[in-house]
Amino acid sequence: MSASSPEPTSVLHRAWIAFLRWFDTGTDAPSEQLSDRIDWVRVIPFIGMHMACLGVIWVGVSPIAVTVAALLYALRMFAITGFYHRYFSHKSFRTSRPMQFCFALIGAMSVQRGPLWWAAHHRHHHRHSDQDKDFHSPVTRSLLWSHMGWFLTPKGFATDFESVRDLAKYPELRWIDRFDTLIPIGLAVSLFLLGGWLESAHPQLGTSAGQMLIWGFFVSTIVLFHATVTINSLAHRFGSRRFATRDNSRNNLWLALLTFGEGWHNNHHHFPGSTRQGFRWWEVDLTFYLLWLMARLGLVWDMKTVPAQLRRPGQD
Ligand SMILES: [Zn+2]
Ligand SMILES: [Zn+2]
Repeated sequence: MSASSPEPTSVLHRAWIAFLRWFDTGTDAPSEQLSDRIDWVRVIPFIGMHMACLGVIWVGVSPIAVTVAALLYALRMFAITGFYHRYFSHKSFRTSRPMQFCFALIGAMSVQRGPLWWAAHHRHHHRHSDQDKDFHSPVTRSLLWSHMGWFLTPKGFATDFESVRDLAKYPELRWIDRFDTLIPIGLAVSLFLLGGWLESAHPQLGTSAGQMLIWGFFVSTIVLFHATVTINSLAHRFGSRRFATRDNSRNNLWLALLTFGEGWHNNHHHFPGSTRQGFRWWEVDLTFYLLWLMARLGLVWDMKTVPAQLRRPGQD
């Protein structure tokens, strides 16, 4: 039996295929026939990761564990916003192949699937935002669905490789995309081992293997996840609209702070090709500042800007 067997019939068969796809997600092709109802077998790890956060009750807390959790939030948020979004999805700047690989790997540590899946769905969102075909619109569906329902379905799980042919030509990116779950598992194991080593080598830090795993991986990843997907849910509902885009996207300072600049979502829908999403000097865009720094170091280049005539409000 293979993960690509078409149209599973029995419940056991369906469960087995769903289980295999926890680890090998490369076989999902998009189809109108795929269900957009929640696939509970695939959802188990998602629920399990939330439950694991309750482990803080048993492992306790230490400054080092919270620091590692915060650093991993920041690093992975930047990989998602700067690379999964502004680079892979929109090609708003250029970089080298090793750097592309490096940030695809860090992005995959976020448990938000691989770069091809992420970019394919995001490009689809821009083509159909807040219309019937949009996977995660809080206008056509509920706020909860846009936040964390849509990607838990067979339809949302599949990747449209046609829309990311420019990325799929790199075998290393296809590999990350197919085995995307192995990468965060590697991060979790590393944190567990690090915690065990710190416990014996530096007991004054007051940490442990379990604590580093729960805070560094589970708590950090779940907070990162919910922060990221506010852009699909809240940023299409709450905030101001500078530009009359054909969707319901909003500019929202709080979301911009939480997501390192992605909260300027109405700006972004107005001109998605811009590396910088905060169009005014006061529109804080941490991702852009970090990319600007990387550009100064020669690690990325050709960052695209918004044409002056498109900066004026009320146009689209
Ligand atoms: Zn949007
Ligand atoms: Zn976008």
